[in-house]
Formats: sequence, structure tokens, C-alpha cells
Amino acid sequence: MLKNIRSILPTVLTLLLFNVTFTWASSLNGPDSLNAPPGTQPVLHDIGARPSADHIEHDIRKLVRFGTRHTLSETKSDTHGIGAARRWIQSEFERISDSCGGCLEVYTVSDTIAGERRIPNPTNVVNVIAIQRGYADPNRYVMMSGDIDSRVSDVMNDTSFAPGANDNASGIAGTLEAARILTQYKFPASIVYTALSGEEQGLFGGKILAQKAKTEGWRIEALLNNDMIGNIQGINGVVNNTTARVFSEGTRAVETDKEARIRRYTGGEVDSPSRNVARYVNKMADKYIDHLDMMMIYRVDRFGRGGHHLPFNDMGYPAVRIMETNENYHRQHQDVRVENGIHYGDVISGVNFDYAAKLTGLNAVTLASMAWAPQPPSNVQIKGAVSANTTLSWDAIDPQKAPDLAGYKIYWRRTTAPTWTNSIYVGKTDHYTLKNTIIDNYFFGVASISKDGFESPVVFPGPNGSFDVVKD
Ligand SMILES: [Zn+2]
Repeated sequence: MLKNIRSILPTVLTLLLFNVTFTWASSLNGPDSLNAPPGTQPVLHDIGARPSADHIEHDIRKLVRFGTRHTLSETKSDTHGIGAARRWIQSEFERISDSCGGCLEVYTVSDTIAGERRIPNPTNVVNVIAIQRGYADPNRYVMMSGDIDSRVSDVMNDTSFAPGANDNASGIAGTLEAARILTQYKFPASIVYTALSGEEQGLFGGKILAQKAKTEGWRIEALLNNDMIGNIQGINGVVNNTTARVFSEGTRAVETDKEARIRRYTGGEVDSPSRNVARYVNKMADKYIDHLDMMMIYRVDRFGRGGHHLPFNDMGYPAVRIMETNENYHRQHQDVRVENGIHYGDVISGVNFDYAAKLTGLNAVTLASMAWAPQPPSNVQIKGAVSANTTLSWDAIDPQKAPDLAGYKIYWRRTTAPTWTNSIYVGKTDHYTLKNTIIDNYFFGVASISKDGFESPVVFPGPNGSFDVVKD
């Protein structure tokens, strides 16, 4: 008996495989008479290659010359301390705006913080932001951030030389450079360039801005937080300029007990909107940035550590951290000194400007692609239990907000696959049934796509995957 089963098993397997292959091949032809938009956008190749290492070097040197940008440092001087630094960043955004006919709304977002462990006395924590307002869907935001503030070994030391060249002048320089490039184009959605303060003292600048966004009902599609994008020499001796990391939360910080119970039976542990933004960043690197392979880290941040994407996650917003792969702890949060022959301190020689330019290119193509694409589909639902078919549905996107909408794309993958492997363009509809595709065996999602082929991130069905933090 056993022998018999063994002998027919290969035949059965072959038949099963053929069956699956046949089904997929037929569904990949798609609904009749649909022409899928193009899969590649040449303009993104151009944008990805545009960031200038010279501009980034210039801006990092400028920021280092303020001596310290500690959140509690002096604010009166025009040449020293965080006040001078943020005023320079604001003037730089205004200069960029002047060269695009005033296309940026530049202002500060601040609040007074006091009584905190790392901010005991009343301190004005001031962020500088620049909004490139979208022409069709102005309340949808894609955001890039870096941090203004720097520190040395003692986090409360607000006077010592704290160059913060990599942590995080590199993130600010990248954000300014992305603004220079993307302000030469027009987008249906709004792009926000942000310089945040108070990061080292407890993520206060991010909290202030995320709170303002929530109060004002911003539909934030993604925040790309850039924190340390210039170091290529790791503490472990590895020197590498061809990889970078993107960190993202797996389940949402705001998930309720009820949503967690639903997730237990329907999945979504690795499909928060932040995680699908990370997959989007990974795809952008593969398609548009030469010699850059992303390491998608299935963690909200480095082990036990944090960054300015976290306050956005805390509000339910999709937000990821983009950073170098190889960190050097001798150059982070250290007094500038030489000890036992080791050079400590976050100095300019620890920054590779070409590498920071490359990661800036990655940010720029991601922002541009999302802002040119329609919004991610809302209210995505799935059904198909105990059935041969799987059906996804979603709300049709308001054509006023997405004048270039071509339609939607269904994605699926094996449950153990890290990235979306299969897709089908289904045109302008608000539901689609994948025939003979068993819901149990794959994860599914849906993206929107413009006529030029710009795609939104993939939305996993249900509350854990939803981008609808705020609805208009
Ligand atoms: Zn830091």
C-alpha cells in the first residue's frame, strides 16, 4: 500500500503543479481587453541619480560649524547652537522655494516641553517643515525627515562640540537635497520635507509634528525617517556602500485587542502599512538605484533603540526608518576625543557623501513615485473561506483626487515570502475575484496605479493593513 502511494505521488504532484500553473497563467492574462500601465518610469531613473554628493557635503559641513545643535543649546546666536542651525535650515528651504516660484510652504512647528527627564526646564522644541502642496489631493502627504539636534556622551551636555555629522546632519542634508530635486516637478499629492528637533532628548519634535498632523486630519501615506545615512565603515570591520536598511513595525502600535483577535485568525503580523511601505522602498531600490540592495529589517528600529518614525507609528501613521547598514558606535553620541588610539566622535570624516547621496536618491524616487501614484486603496476587504475563490473589494478612489487613476492591481504571495511575488492588473473596478485561488495559502493585497504606471503601496486587507488612519 505504502509502496503504491509512493509510486503515484510524483504523478499526483505533477498534476497539482500543472493545475496551479495553468490557473495562474490564465489569470495572469487578466480581464479581457485590459492594457496594464507601463511597469517602469524612466523619470524615476533620472530622479534617483540626481542627488549631488557635493551639495550634501556642503550642507553637512555647514551644520557641523554650528558647534552644537543640542536641543537645549543656545538659540540667540546666529552662528552657534540649535537656534542658528534651524534658522539656516529654514532659510535654505526658503531659497529652494524661491527657485521654484514659491512652491514650498515653509514654517516652524514647535511646542514648549518641560518636566521631562532629558528636558527638565521649559524649552521650545522647534521643527522646520516645508510642504510642496499637491495639485489634486493636497491633504495626502508623503514625508521625508531628518533630525536637527546632536549630542555627545552626556545627553544633557548642551555646550560641548557635538558635530553630529552623520547623526543626523546626514539626514537633514539628504532632506534638503531631495527638496531641491523634487520641487522641479509637480505632484497630485503633497510632499513634506521636515527637519525635526528634540530627537536625542526623547523624540519630542516628532511627537509635536505627529500630533499636529493628527489634529489637522493629515492623511499621511508614509513618513520616511532618515537617521544616519552616511556611514559605511561598521564597528565590526565591515566596509560596504551597496546596502542599506529599512526598519518597519510588523503589527501596529495602535492595534486594539479586538483587532489582534481578528488578526490571529486572518493574518497580518507582517503586513502593517509601515511594512508595506518598507516593501515599496525595497522595490524602488531594486528598480531605480544602482548598487543598492535593501535589507528589510522586520523590527520597528534597532534592538531596543528608537527614532523619529516612532511617534508617527504611535499615532497609527505608516512610518519607516531608512539608514546605513553598518553603524560605528565610536562615532555615535561620543565626546570628540582620542583614547587608546581610537578616534571617537561624530565627525565629518566618518561620512561618505556619495553613499548619503545614494540613499537620498532612494528617498526621492520613493516620494516621487508615491506622490505621482493615486492614494492607496481604502477599506480593503477580503473573503473566500471554504471556497475555491478569493475576492478582494475596496472603495473606488475619488476621481477628483486621482485624475490619473488607471485602475488597481491585486498582489499575492506565499505566506512565508518576504515580498509580493504575484500580481494582476484588474482595471477600474472596486472588487476582483481570483478564481481557484485558495485564500488560506497566500497573503493578498491591492494597490492603485496611475496611467503612467505609478503605483501606491500594497494594502493588506483589514484594520492591520489599512492606510486609512484619517479619512477625509
Ligand atoms: Zn542619535
